[in-house]
Amino acid sequence: MLRGSCLCGAVAYTAGVPTGMAIACHCDECRRQSGHHFAAVPVAKRSLRFQRQETLRWYRASDIGKRGFCCACGSTLFWRGDEGAHVHLLMGALDGATGLHLGAHVWVRERGDYYQIGGDLPQFQEGE
Ligand SMILES: [Zn+2]
Repeated sequence: MLRGSCLCGAVAYTAGVPTGMAIACHCDECRRQSGHHFAAVPVAKRSLRFQRQETLRWYRASDIGKRGFCCACGSTLFWRGDEGAHVHLLMGALDGATGLHLGAHVWVRERGDYYQIGGDLPQFQEGE
């Protein structure tokens, strides 16, 4: 089981095991919201349980999905597609050791020009 929380602690959750690969997403949306690229891992929507969520807000970022964040401290926490059974957890908000590893970089064609992608993970120009 995974646990996560925002910077101020007003949002806290648990979630089930990952249902897919953890990715680093370099798309324009993720970079603007997070301040850089972001790292996320999918879990089943139905496995997500909130212990606290008073300050959780969902921003409709596009026609296909919403982005969850804490309106008190600004932590970016979730990406949730309207379709599908998964919600992506932003990995920087996970508590403690996760045992998880990034599997790929996606949307590399929208990467900022101010950094290079190191390491030997697969890189996809768009989604995986
Ligand atoms: Zn917060």
